[in-house]
Amino acid sequence: MSDLNLILLGPPGAGKGTQAERLREDFGLPHISTGDILRAQVAEGTELGKQARRYMEAGELVPDDLIVKMIGERINAGDARDGFLLDGFPRNEKQADALAEALEALDRRLSAALLIDVPDDEVVRRLAGRRVCVKNPSHIYHVDFDPPKHEGVCDQDGSRLIQRDDDKEETIRKRLEVYHSQTEPLIDYYDRAGLLRRFDGSRSAEDVHDHLRAAVATLRLEDQL
Ligand code: AMP
Repeated sequence: MSDLNLILLGPPGAGKGTQAERLREDFGLPHISTGDILRAQVAEGTELGKQARRYMEAGELVPDDLIVKMIGERINAGDARDGFLLDGFPRNEKQADALAEALEALDRRLSAALLIDVPDDEVVRRLAGRRVCVKNPSHIYHVDFDPPKHEGVCDQDGSRLIQRDDDKEETIRKRLEVYHSQTEPLIDYYDRAGLLRRFDGSRSAEDVHDHLRAAVATLRLEDQL
């Protein structure tokens, strides 16, 4: 089967969510963000949400077994059967192994790991100023770089904008520490597998998008050959 199974790697604040939304529009790939799914579960007060909440608020990873089960079900759901764009998963080697196994069981394989790299100081600058729509978390703004027309109000649906608890500076530092110790080793992991593609995430969102779109278009062409 010809499908494009992609993961986005990079530190928090690299712009993975923004770029995933753009690539979703370009290529019709479902954007699967574990962070967004977990936040929705917390908001709904489900069992998973109750278990995940304290880890998220502390900037720590939610236990692997909970996440792996959630993703295993999601990548085999209707819209993801012909390809997907994973954002925020895998976050460590155990999750990466679990993803490889789940794909193999479905007779599928990973097409590429797209790394959007950004230095720590830039991450802090970006995340501390980030505001998200209370109704739709993919509506994202920044107090300095991308302010809404009216302060605190979403341009797209008029809902209130909030700062995520995990975008407070102390939690950002903790999330970066977790990224460097647990997620960064995946760069080598996918490089060794010949799947890694690197992108300079300190460039403008438009530049990063142009480069990503070209890379994904090439992958799709190669896949069709
Ligand atoms: P994100 O929006 O991707 O930065 O995710 C926000 C929070 O959700 C993270 O700080 C973790 O607590 C949790 N989370 C998201 N994805 C994962 C994952 N793959 N494994 C464990 N925890 C996760």
